[in-house]
Amino acid sequence: MIAMKCSCGKKAIFFRKYEGTHLCRICFCRSIERKFRKTVGKYHMISPGDHIVVALSGGKDSTTALYLMNGIVKPRRDIRLSAMIIDEGIRGFRSECIKAAKRFCKNLGVELHVFRFRDLYGKTTDHIMKKLNPEEEPCTYCGVARRRVINKMARKLKATKVCMGLHLDDEAESVLMNYLRGDLLRASRMGPVTEYSTTKNGGSLFVPRIKPLREIPEEEIKIYANIKKLDYYKKHCPYRGGFRFEVKAMLKKLEKKHPGMKFSILENFDKILPCLRKSVKYTEPKILKCRKCGEPSSRKICNACELWGN
Ligand code: SF4
Ligand code: ZN
Ligand code: ZN
Repeated sequence: MIAMKCSCGKKAIFFRKYEGTHLCRICFCRSIERKFRKTVGKYHMISPGDHIVVALSGGKDSTTALYLMNGIVKPRRDIRLSAMIIDEGIRGFRSECIKAAKRFCKNLGVELHVFRFRDLYGKTTDHIMKKLNPEEEPCTYCGVARRRVINKMARKLKATKVCMGLHLDDEAESVLMNYLRGDLLRASRMGPVTEYSTTKNGGSLFVPRIKPLREIPEEEIKIYANIKKLDYYKKHCPYRGGFRFEVKAMLKKLEKKHPGMKFSILENFDKILPCLRKSVKYTEPKILKCRKCGEPSSRKICNACELWGN
């Protein structure tokens, strides 16, 4: 079999089906770095004076986001970069992620903050899972608490942006999930920068989230992280599952048959996003402060307090 060549003449290691291009190691890595920078620039994700906190999980995606963001921010004195990781208390899993995150941040010279569910809620995701009914999804409970802790602690750290490791697959899945559930409000809060947080409704209670990996497929992030030998934890959360993974499997099949499908889902969604935001503007519930935890919520008691029984 003839080895395929990259346009630079070197041996190709990857075939990018949706572009029809063969790429060598160097050109592949450069293309990922270029895409990352382009996304950051296109959506004005960073500005002078920012304190960017990367929400690490210890996995390949957020580790890559931190690595690439550090590459942009390091030469700049006007932007501060740090990282946080949430310990939900998932035995045998998150402790390993935290070890990897600590090593990675130490090597990069980035300050890492660890926040624990046990300290904040008095219980862990493992505790919650023991009491869950079989029809309930673990991520519903854990995810809502994770989001709340990330926002709350980002405010505490005086972050101006939270950088998430969400990639193309995550975003395309979320678009479809919101569509299938008919959740227009949640859909209107998506996008490369959560503008939701900058509106007067909720205002300063939300720290804007940025997603510089949203135009890079998960598969390519994995290859990039492995080529660069980034220190990340390779196993998945044992509770991972539910509706998102049904949608993920469906998208995987579609993408195989129709390369570029995930891009077109996201591109089309971005086109209708301004209209979506306008359409929910008048029906959007007012953001209040949760009576129990003080975090932003559209109800008197927020979802996290309700689910976690705070
Ligand atoms: Fe929590 Fe689900 Fe993420 Fe596991 S996969 S850490 S249960 S949100
Ligand atoms: Zn090349
Ligand atoms: Zn609350």
